[in-house]
Amino acid sequence: MALLPILTQEAPILRQKAKRVTRVDDSIRKLIDDMVETMVAAPGVGLAANQVGVALRVIVVKTDANLYSLVNPEMVKATGEQVGLEGCLSIPGYVGEVKRAQRVVVRGLNRHGKTVRIKGDDLLARAFQHEIDHINGVLFIDRLTSLDTLRKVEPESVTEGELVGA
Ligand code: ZN
Repeated sequence: MALLPILTQEAPILRQKAKRVTRVDDSIRKLIDDMVETMVAAPGVGLAANQVGVALRVIVVKTDANLYSLVNPEMVKATGEQVGLEGCLSIPGYVGEVKRAQRVVVRGLNRHGKTVRIKGDDLLARAFQHEIDHINGVLFIDRLTSLDTLRKVEPESVTEGELVGA
């Protein structure tokens, strides 16, 4: 496994729609492993492949004890509403208020190319929405409830439950 450099906001690849993966092979499994290692080291709760310079529809998400990796993820259901602070590993040092669905069902391929469905709520739902936005070229700063909510933070001042780094 290897730590990958995380691209920041100015990188054009973060604004491009990533391509679908046609086959989940060893190169995709290696990408997933490297993304997980990079996310955990950051530390972050999620990472999309284009954040590490690969324009493919691959995401990883980790909250509490659960680790998910999904290839070609799609939102099949999104219900309810949550408003909370969000941050991004590609926009270090900033958080802002973003409205998201409270519960989602996401479908995609696992590391063996098998179709899986994952249900999530709260932080997990927020992380999935944030990462699927990434592979569509969308950043959380595009979705702020108001520009006034964007603020600079020191990492140690962030309270638990806020999505900082995804
Ligand atoms: Zn992000």
